Amino acid sequence: MGGLDEHRWFTEICEEGGSAFSLKLRGKLHEERTPFQRIEIYDTEFFGHLMVIDGFVMLTALDNFLYHEMMAHPALFTHPDPKRVVIIGGGDCGTLREVLRHAGVEHALQVEIDERVTRLAEQYFPELCESNDDPRAEFLFGDGIRWMKEAEPGSVDVVIVDSTDPIGPAEGLFTEAFYRDCHRALGGHGLIVQQSESPLFHLDSIIRPMHRAMRAAGFGDTHSLQFPQPCYPSGWWTATLAGKGDIRTFRETDAAAKPFPTRYYNAAIHRAALATPELLR
Ligand code: SAM
Repeated sequence: MGGLDEHRWFTEICEEGGSAFSLKLRGKLHEERTPFQRIEIYDTEFFGHLMVIDGFVMLTALDNFLYHEMMAHPALFTHPDPKRVVIIGGGDCGTLREVLRHAGVEHALQVEIDERVTRLAEQYFPELCESNDDPRAEFLFGDGIRWMKEAEPGSVDVVIVDSTDPIGPAEGLFTEAFYRDCHRALGGHGLIVQQSESPLFHLDSIIRPMHRAMRAAGFGDTHSLQFPQPCYPSGWWTATLAGKGDIRTFRETDAAAKPFPTRYYNAAIHRAALATPELLR
């Protein structure tokens, strides 16, 4: 493909961005079709293990920390006292691991539609699954849209939507109806954070509609946090926060004194991610 030997390189084409991203391979470790999607695992030369779903890069061992830390810590340091966290999707368990670093979290439920994603993560990304035995962690393999529809009102502090792109089973996770269900499930200071793709390629197709839908669903404020993500199209990614309360300030002293290690997130990074680039206004 484009001069790249398909046996030595994995290439993801991003049609909407007229671009592609390639990783040099050592070999293919696994491939299977589940009732939901096709999952491939590769070993790469420099990025470590790679998980691909339906041809799209989900994560690599090298750079997933950027995404997982930004999906978890800004939301958890924004809520005044997050105890009950629900992760929708997130089957690789990397976001769950970051959530469980917060000692105040009493219960973290991961609702992943495809159990095979988690089983393969346990096998090929054991470092992301190291907190799976934490007694505060619960795993439910089912549809996150349905789970949210049936959730007890006010029973959740933070919802993290760590999903695939809005196609297939994830399509309904990007709708006003889903955000209304999240709004109802969330308590007083509740907030939601959702991966929202690239500001360069998906501004009008995903990011702006997401802000509109979250506000229409009743959230008073929305903001897209931005961060680098080399393995995703354009290398520039966002996670969009929506809150019932204030999402523009956070527990900065707690973030600065966090008792656990991170490789990207810190209080200054959080503050910087609260700035809005002109493009995203
Ligand atoms: N970080 C990745 C990205 O942005 O490309 C996402 C990784 S994570 C593996 C995404 C997960 O969302 C997949 O495992 C997929 O099975 C799950 N998923 C998709 N739709 C879902 C739904 N409706 N309910 C629960 N999980 C869902």
